[in-house]
Amino acid sequence: MIQELTDAVYHNEYRALEPESEDYIMFVKGRSVLLKKSMLIESNAIEYPRYKDVINAMANDGSLSQSAIKYIYLFQIETKNGTLKFFLGESDAFLKFIPDAYSYEPQNIFREKKPDFLAFAGVTACQLANWYASTRFCGACGMPLEHDKKERMMRCPKCNAMYYPKISPAVIVAVTDRDRIIMTKYAGRDYTKYALIAGFAEIGETIEETVRREVMEEVGIKVKNIRYYKSQPWSFTDTMLFGFFCELDGDDTIRLDEEELSSGEWLYRDEIPTEYDGISLTNEMIMRFKNGDVRNFTNFEF
Ligand SMILES: [Zn+2]
Repeated sequence: MIQELTDAVYHNEYRALEPESEDYIMFVKGRSVLLKKSMLIESNAIEYPRYKDVINAMANDGSLSQSAIKYIYLFQIETKNGTLKFFLGESDAFLKFIPDAYSYEPQNIFREKKPDFLAFAGVTACQLANWYASTRFCGACGMPLEHDKKERMMRCPKCNAMYYPKISPAVIVAVTDRDRIIMTKYAGRDYTKYALIAGFAEIGETIEETVRREVMEEVGIKVKNIRYYKSQPWSFTDTMLFGFFCELDGDDTIRLDEEELSSGEWLYRDEIPTEYDGISLTNEMIMRFKNGDVRNFTNFEF
């Protein structure tokens, strides 16, 4: 999955640091991130500007003062070759000023490009950048917010309201019945491959109740034996995904919610067309079922 890094460890804790020469600076515009173009073309690899590159680019241009960019510490990633620190570069001016060697690339590029720790850094930085961009004023009193010194939180200096990063919990559900699984396709989305039943948790329900409700709403089926599988931070949509396997309880007739889904059907293992992609929890769950890993399980190995 996209968060499972090869020989690298992600450290999320907020630290009140200033960038240094070799640190990465993430410039984000909407859901696009500034990347080094030459690296993408020559080696199909991701590379971001480092602090020294930003300083040089601005010195060469001369129209921007160094203080035009505000830096916010994001996270660090420990690799075999040392620890990499990532900062958000916040600047309206810099969004228009793009050095020749760089271009803004949409976040979907991180589903394919390597190395994996830089791809994960890109999509995570994108989520954080969007949260910072939309968390600038207090929703209660309208004052500009200030960053807390100790944790990743924006605080109102007037009424003391606190704002934490937005993470929406959601479920991915594999409904099985012996050698069959319910596979779905979403209605009205770009993503046209098979998926599993999915939906957001509502206020006042447990995550297990979300599983039952979403399955009932989307395909009109009752389930039993709900078992937690794994979770996945899915920064593409500000979501925390919780994967569950469960079994059909009673009538197997699918009654489709046609606003949400374009199709929902029982497929036998050998009818599943999905191939391994190494990115999403949905894909991993489908592949485990397809390969027969969940035939008689009660517990999973994490
Ligand atoms: Zn306030």
